[in-house]
Amino acid sequence: MNFEQFSLDPRINAGIKALGYTTPTPIQQQAIGVVLEGRDVLGTAQTGTGKTAAFVLPILQRLTTGPLGHVRALIVAPTRELAEQIRQASVDLGQKTRVRSVAVYGGVSRGRQVEALRRGTEIVVACPGRLLDLAGDRSIDLSHVEVLVLDEADRMCDMGFLPDIRRILKLVPARRQTLFFSATMPEGIRDLADSILKDPVTVQIGAIAPAKTVSHTLYPVSQGLKKTLLLATLEQTATGRVLIFTRTKYRARNLARDLGKRRYRVAALQGNMSQNRRQQSINGFRDGKYDILVATDVASRGIDVSDISHVINFDMPDTVDAYTHRIGRTGRVYKTGEAFTFVTHGDEPLVRQIEKVLGKQIERRRLPGFNYGGLAQERQSRGNRPNHAQKTRSNHKHNRHHSSRYPQRQNPKNTAGSV
Ligand code: AMP
Repeated sequence: MNFEQFSLDPRINAGIKALGYTTPTPIQQQAIGVVLEGRDVLGTAQTGTGKTAAFVLPILQRLTTGPLGHVRALIVAPTRELAEQIRQASVDLGQKTRVRSVAVYGGVSRGRQVEALRRGTEIVVACPGRLLDLAGDRSIDLSHVEVLVLDEADRMCDMGFLPDIRRILKLVPARRQTLFFSATMPEGIRDLADSILKDPVTVQIGAIAPAKTVSHTLYPVSQGLKKTLLLATLEQTATGRVLIFTRTKYRARNLARDLGKRRYRVAALQGNMSQNRRQQSINGFRDGKYDILVATDVASRGIDVSDISHVINFDMPDTVDAYTHRIGRTGRVYKTGEAFTFVTHGDEPLVRQIEKVLGKQIERRRLPGFNYGGLAQERQSRGNRPNHAQKTRSNHKHNRHHSSRYPQRQNPKNTAGSV
């Protein structure tokens, strides 16, 4: 199977070739033909499946004919990063066409976006808030929209954008094609889809389980030893690009700073950073300036960086869905990756849910030579409370130089039976 079967405009095929795509991914195989026919689509597909090109390619095909200068395709996405990524895909795939794309999101000045809209564009990729803002003062005209895409609809609803989406629906023509993508399809999302779509074709990729090309491992550890375990893991593991997730913005910032002090090439990506600094982190990670990116869930949505060898969940995510999204950052499309998750005792219920979705038990592993006894020492020494940096440094030294003096309870394959 190749892209020729879709009989796309030669200028679009040139874009596909320029990106090095040779074989359509399963979602592209299922969706492109249907979208070209003008049908509405209800797509269940997680990130990393190639879903962006699945809707961008047929949209470009539509826009190569007909008038230029009107907003004819509107793609709504939950985060700036995802919006930027979709715009970039539209620009890259449409590089030989005359179709233009503008991204519209908050956190940056409106001026440039308004100016770009004034110059004229056929595709707008937008986050709901800024889009409504610009529509409110007539900086954008949505009355010519022919195709509306709602991407990561479940996430948009989680983030409280449902009322905004309903408002946006009132601004676009009722006669249009609508493509609705969501990684998960709980009842509320399905109801929303039913109320928007007309006789849709359902396209489902995978059983909403984490990508199969990823191997999953749990590292049981106490909260207080996580950082030491992370450092030891990074030392012992042959890693390429590593994406580390923390639960809070502060932890992302502090962990990146601590790794930086240890001379790792690392950047943070968290919601307290300005849009420009976030983009610098993503670009630096993508371009190889940084080997490690420490991110929070919200900030990491839509990071499109290939070749991530390891995703490390420094903190367990809150939901199975969030786990799936994080893990979707490695093993993208045809590549393989590893997912390490540091789990504390309290994380067990969620671990069981993830295992249910995966349909198998996840391997529990203990890092060879790691001083898990550090916890007992930590408890004993709590009376005189050493500062955290000292504690970490001394544990770190132990692991590097005296690990053999601290034999671990391990089974022969370094896997421990329980958390
Ligand atoms: P997405 O699920 O749209 O975020 O895409 C994930 C990654 O797959 C992106 O880096 C795309 O550039 C890449 N990709 C999309 N389609 C293909 C394809 N047919 N062959 C190879 N890579 C692809």
